[in-house]
Amino acid sequence: MKIGFPRALYYFDYYPFWAGFFYNLDIELVTSEPTHRGIMESGLKMAHDETCLPVKLLAGHINSLKDVDYIFLPRMVSVEEKTYLCPKFLGIPESVSAAVDGDIPVITVTINWREGQNQVLKALEAFGLKLGKGKAMIRNAFQEALKWQTMYGELRRSGEDFEESLDLCEKSFTILPRETSLKLAKTNQYKVCENREPRPGIALVGHAYLVNERYANLDLVNKLRANVDLKLIEETETKAVENSLKGLRKKMFWSQAKKILGAGYSYVDDETVDGVIYLSCFGCGMDSVSQDMLARRARKAHKPYMVITLDEHSGEAGLVTRIEAFVDMIVRRIENESNLSAYGKCLDNN
Ligand code: SF4
Repeated sequence: MKIGFPRALYYFDYYPFWAGFFYNLDIELVTSEPTHRGIMESGLKMAHDETCLPVKLLAGHINSLKDVDYIFLPRMVSVEEKTYLCPKFLGIPESVSAAVDGDIPVITVTINWREGQNQVLKALEAFGLKLGKGKAMIRNAFQEALKWQTMYGELRRSGEDFEESLDLCEKSFTILPRETSLKLAKTNQYKVCENREPRPGIALVGHAYLVNERYANLDLVNKLRANVDLKLIEETETKAVENSLKGLRKKMFWSQAKKILGAGYSYVDDETVDGVIYLSCFGCGMDSVSQDMLARRARKAHKPYMVITLDEHSGEAGLVTRIEAFVDMIVRRIENESNLSAYGKCLDNN
């Protein structure tokens, strides 16, 4: 049996879990190709005009899946206690049904961690039984899937690249012993291109499906890495996220916003970070709230902060100009020993 899995949206956060689950059920999981122009264009045609770019990309990826027995579109309601994923995640199997090619059936399962691990397991058991698998096999697959996901998280926190983490994670459970993969990860860290001195420390925060989506974000991560020491949201410890959100009057309701804001706050307070960039998405409700909250915190801490908003019309020239201006401004600030110009007084005249 071949099951198609679109390389978009939840792929960037939860693919290791599903890869581990299906691998241990002896089912082949086929992912769509990395995003290219054709996928983007078909997504724009298939998805609702009003929706956000990541959902449009998801539609394009679903449409590109051929020669599979089923297309798998989980309904991910919640991935931790007391928070929900974005409402768009909840409606995925229905909202993008127009993108499914021909007669390929869609299979789905509802994942809701708010109800606890037992309920998640129960839902997966019912799902696995429909695929003709036994309960013992499904339970084992679930435990293995959790291990895959944990290892992926460890690799990302250690600074490993996204694609490389997925690859090492897959190998470590199928071919290599786990320790070898972790060791490999340490020697395999990002290749830094030392184009420029001094190299400011910049943190990039945003949804994993934008930060790691190289086609849609115009290869922003590598563009930044050529000139700065880059920190990504995945490198933040869960504890640091929780701690930095402690002062909020109300808990963050959405998982994605909680992670972005928590990581953003901790980077604002981090002295090794000279500036923070928020990669946001046009049409995203939660970004509109969290980017403003982060802007206020950054302003208070006098930390340079920039928002880059992506949509399907974003162009490379504009992006490069904005990055260069932001990095130049930070370098100038470092060279001037962090002296802030007072109103009406220019740093150059000091
Ligand atoms: S959180 Fe924002 S970007 Fe992500 S799916 Fe929801 S609306 Fe789209």
